[in-house]
Amino acid sequence: MVADPTTGSRPEADADVIVVGAGPAGSTAATYLARAGLDVLLLEKSSFPRAKVCGDGFTPRGIKQIIDLGIDCSEEAGWLHNRGLRVLGGGVSLELEWPTLASFPDYGAVRTRQDFDELLVRHAEKSGARLHEDTTVTDAVTDERTGRVVGVTGHVGRGSGKSGDKRPVSFRAPLTLACDGVSARLALSIGITKRDDRPMGVAVRRYYRSPRTNDDYLESHLELWDRSDPANPKLLPGYGWIFGMGDGTSNVGLGILSTSRAYGSTDYRALLRSWLDGTPEEWGFREENAEGSVGGAALPMGFNRIPHYRPGMLLVGDAGGLVNPFNGEGIAYAMESAAIASRCAIQSLARRGTAAEKALESYPTELRQALGGYYRIGNLFSRLIGNPTIMGLATRHGLPRRTLMEFLLKLLANLYDPKDGATSDRVITAMARLAPSV
Ligand SMILES: Cc1cc2nc3c(=O)[nH]c(=O)nc-3n(C[C@H](O)[C@H](O)[C@H](O)COP(=O)(O)OP(=O)(O)OC[C@H]3O[C@@H](n4cnc5c(N)ncnc54)[C@H](O)[C@@H]3O)c2cc1C
Repeated sequence: MVADPTTGSRPEADADVIVVGAGPAGSTAATYLARAGLDVLLLEKSSFPRAKVCGDGFTPRGIKQIIDLGIDCSEEAGWLHNRGLRVLGGGVSLELEWPTLASFPDYGAVRTRQDFDELLVRHAEKSGARLHEDTTVTDAVTDERTGRVVGVTGHVGRGSGKSGDKRPVSFRAPLTLACDGVSARLALSIGITKRDDRPMGVAVRRYYRSPRTNDDYLESHLELWDRSDPANPKLLPGYGWIFGMGDGTSNVGLGILSTSRAYGSTDYRALLRSWLDGTPEEWGFREENAEGSVGGAALPMGFNRIPHYRPGMLLVGDAGGLVNPFNGEGIAYAMESAAIASRCAIQSLARRGTAAEKALESYPTELRQALGGYYRIGNLFSRLIGNPTIMGLATRHGLPRRTLMEFLLKLLANLYDPKDGATSDRVITAMARLAPSV
């Protein structure tokens, strides 16, 4: 057990670090922290294996994070690899290979979140983290005098109060990582609300048995029309995806940005149905082939919950609004932010007093350095394509131009070499540098 970072004392504590939430952010952080010899308590409200509503798609950016953790990403280990992105829109279909770069592998993959999240959490346990399942955290505990977060409270068990199988718990530690996803209950409990001037997305998905289950590409449909008013169809800012899972099913879904007027008033499940009804019958995306129901959730984007640091607590992954505003990808960023937060936490917990706090304070700075400029452009981009005229122009005139689309793939998926890259990489690096950080 290490010392309290502010006082240097070793108070009654249940762990060195409490990690709340065992999704990609929490399990990644728990792995790195436990490997550094820290006593890590990983609190998760559900129990594994559990489903998570997701597209199940990994770009090379996500694969890099998984490789960094020391997890086998080969096909033999259960991953279905893909070689790029197929983009459809304006009557054009274009297959774009993932770029060959120094910074990232040249393949993406799919894997169900049911499978992936369990793989990650077992990895954290093997590294030494102590997992408590069925443990719901409701509040951060703060020191009355300093306001510092010194632990969490919640309950164990899932039954309703009267059934008696739910019992209150509380844990203390010098540092807590909030990795509890888009609900961000822990951040809310100390008043960190979401910023309405930053984009949000909504995404829904469903599995279908389909002959398209084996696909070398992730497929993205850029033209999503809301035809609920047939006299006035609207082009929506977002895209539909078809990701073959390789197990007889495809994960099919769509995501829409909050920057459009239709946001909030759209029936997303109906939109998914109407889009899929328009796809060829032989693809199989019809009710009789559906497996399970339509699931949906919000996508918190572009640093939409700040500050990422409060004394004693760091916000990581979706809890900090870290989904990429260009493409709705969140797993890679949950894991990347977890790696950065862990580095800061390990430094902090090995120091005393102000020096310890400095290490924690560096987390938001490092996040901004890694992603701030890029997300700033992404936030502007999401506002631009919220305008249906611009979205229509971009789809019609952009898609037929392969070189432009290859550049856009690098930009939208954040796949470029910031150092010594190709010309397109240097352009993106310069754009991200020039954009003021979020
Ligand atoms: C429909 C849809 C499709 C998507 N498709 C993709 C995709 O294809 N690729 C991609 O990269 N991203 C995708 N995303 C985004 C991605 O799912 C998230 O960005 C990612 O899961 C964030 O990881 P996280 O660890 O921060 O949060 P989560 O994965 O949400 O994990 C949070 C964990 O905390 C637990 N938890 C929550 N509250 C509490 C509490 N109070 N106490 C204890 N535990 C708690 C939860 O049970 C969960 O295990 C999609 C999202 C949606 C909604």
